[in-house]
Amino acid sequence: MTKGKSEYDVLVVGSGAAGLAAAITARKRGLEVAVLEKEPVFGGTTALSGGVLWIPLNHHGRKQNPADSVEQVRTFMRAETGAFYDEAAVSAFIENGPKMVDFFERETSMKFIPTLYPDYHPTASGGVDIGRSILAEPYDIRGLGQDMERLKPPLKTITFIGMMFNSSNADLKHFFRATKSLTSFLYVARRLANHVKELLLYRRAVQVTSGNALAARLAKSALDLGIPILTSTPVQQLLLDDDRVSGVLASGPNGEQRLYARHGVVLACGGFPHDLKRIAQAFPHVRRGHEHLSPTPKGNTGDGCNMAEQVGGVVDIRFKEPAAWMPVTRVDFGGGEIGVFPHLLDRYKPGIVGVLANGRRFTNESNSYHDVGAALHRACEGMQETAMWLICDKTALAKYGLGYVKPAPMPVGRFVRNGYLLKGNTLAELARNAGINPAGLEQTVREYNKDAVRGADPAFGRGSTSFNRYLADPDQKPNPCVAPITQGPFYAVKVLMGDLGTFDGLRTSVVGEVLRRDSTPIAGLYAVGNDRASVMGGNYPGAGITHGPNMTFGYVTANHIADQVATRNEARRAVAA
Ligand SMILES: Cc1cc2nc3c(=O)[nH]c(=O)nc-3n(C[C@H](O)[C@H](O)[C@H](O)COP(=O)(O)OP(=O)(O)OC[C@H]3O[C@@H](n4cnc5c(N)ncnc54)[C@H](O)[C@@H]3O)c2cc1C
Repeated sequence: MTKGKSEYDVLVVGSGAAGLAAAITARKRGLEVAVLEKEPVFGGTTALSGGVLWIPLNHHGRKQNPADSVEQVRTFMRAETGAFYDEAAVSAFIENGPKMVDFFERETSMKFIPTLYPDYHPTASGGVDIGRSILAEPYDIRGLGQDMERLKPPLKTITFIGMMFNSSNADLKHFFRATKSLTSFLYVARRLANHVKELLLYRRAVQVTSGNALAARLAKSALDLGIPILTSTPVQQLLLDDDRVSGVLASGPNGEQRLYARHGVVLACGGFPHDLKRIAQAFPHVRRGHEHLSPTPKGNTGDGCNMAEQVGGVVDIRFKEPAAWMPVTRVDFGGGEIGVFPHLLDRYKPGIVGVLANGRRFTNESNSYHDVGAALHRACEGMQETAMWLICDKTALAKYGLGYVKPAPMPVGRFVRNGYLLKGNTLAELARNAGINPAGLEQTVREYNKDAVRGADPAFGRGSTSFNRYLADPDQKPNPCVAPITQGPFYAVKVLMGDLGTFDGLRTSVVGEVLRRDSTPIAGLYAVGNDRASVMGGNYPGAGITHGPNMTFGYVTANHIADQVATRNEARRAVAA
């Protein structure tokens, strides 16, 4: 911050993709902006994420799927959001998403690349097999100069000695095939050699991918525009001037400070995944007293929602699924350090199934993390805990790994010793060690194997959609998601419920004005990102359905503020003339 400066046109609270998108757009429209960030690092959940954005009809996707259309997207959104379909918000999203991508690629350091992701429900009305999900292009964070130190590092659980994988399937494919193909072996060897060099020179990975690249590129764009990103500056309260929000009370490195916003405060605090009081109301399994483990940053304690409520804003808990669910495992790094591993890859692979404490399967494990999570909390109603166990045999473990345990040739012994990886020479022994019903598990695997030998899963239809197959094993014929479980020893990890961020949030207008219970806007107050209720209505229809709308509505909200300022200035000029 310029020392002593206390007034801006716009103050943005939170430095994730939504906040930075709003800040950059407002600055490009000529407004003076500052971003206030609670943590000593910037990037929020965004920096931990896969960095994928769902933007139907973006120019990259149009090349992959020229047949996609506004009507098809609208049909899909209608099918996916059901009772929560919001025509005005959906229209704004469809219209502004591609414009937002063009704007950022043209005017900033933000660059995207296409992906091969199908929609998560490609067989729903209007769903597609390709063309709607794009990914932040990898980035060399040395471009941030000294501010590289302030970029939030990626989740330790999904890096390999600090090296990041690209969310595009192509990168990971080489790692799974490294012991089988010379091309993949050389690819992995080159990636590892470069990474080790970076660790020696910079003590961290500098070639970053996924969400780290998204956060870094946005931060670079903001900083180049002279937008201060004030880290270690938690906002505690909104300031009111009559009934208009005029600024914030924040505590910074120099103590408490009042910062004023001439034209608006934009809340972008990343929703409420760590607001224990609110998740106890909103999350069905937490209401039952069951455990929830979120990989999102601990600082996302719902401050935006809480501060807005204090000035008349409303947080609705109304979606069928209040959050983007993610099945997770707890990883003990030793010395009291605990990590949360999101099960993004293993559930799709053949020969890995998920069972409840009774030993029974309950869903298609190759569905999206959100769908598996939703099925899990429902299946565990009336049970003592909300948990499932991913089960496999030694062949699948060696090929794909399980959770945080890497595939062969990486050793597994330490994970068995520390209790992360449960093991049994027979299925019954595994079940006893894991606390699962042994007879239930034996019967489940017997039934599953009967059809799995011919690649079928009549019980849950694994491999039945292009999305099921996308992250599976193409070498597994005839069904890349299905293989029998036969070769002991058998293994399991205990999976709990987690989330990637919350879907319910503040009631806003389409342009992001925070609304009171009577639907009137609170002057000077806006919400973007996960602070605002999701346009997806609690569903998770495709890869990137939080960042896509979050950045789009960040762009829409900032343009709205700038339009309002322009209109007021014009009116003033007209009066003066
Ligand atoms: C492992 C993982 C993978 C994911 N992959 C994807 C993906 O590929 N695509 C996708 O669309 N979504 C993905 N998500 C979800 C996505 O990352 C989040 O939904 C998104 O980042 C939320 O963005 P945001 O800008 O609203 O909040 P955040 O990125 O969380 O930023 C909010 C910021 O606000 C700050 N803050 C909070 N309170 C205050 C305060 N009082 N004062 C100042 N600052 C404050 C926080 O510290 C934080 O830095 C993933 C999530 C995870 C965990």
